[in-house]
Amino acid sequence: MDDADRAGIEQERIEKAFLAKRTMLPPSRPSATQCIKCNIAIPEKRRQILPGVQLCVECKH
Ligand SMILES: [Zn+2]
Repeated sequence: MDDADRAGIEQERIEKAFLAKRTMLPPSRPSATQCIKCNIAIPEKRRQILPGVQLCVECKH
């Protein structure tokens, strides 16, 4: 097994854990249409990717 294989397995493990976590934890609140901190609109795509998201990209940093 070379380094590329190991990296691929590690990546797959991370992705599976991430998906399992998302499945186990349904959003307890709907995604905000606007950032709760600065009030700018949160893009629809971001709201779909991050269920329950309340902050825009800038405020999340
Ligand atoms: Zn914001």
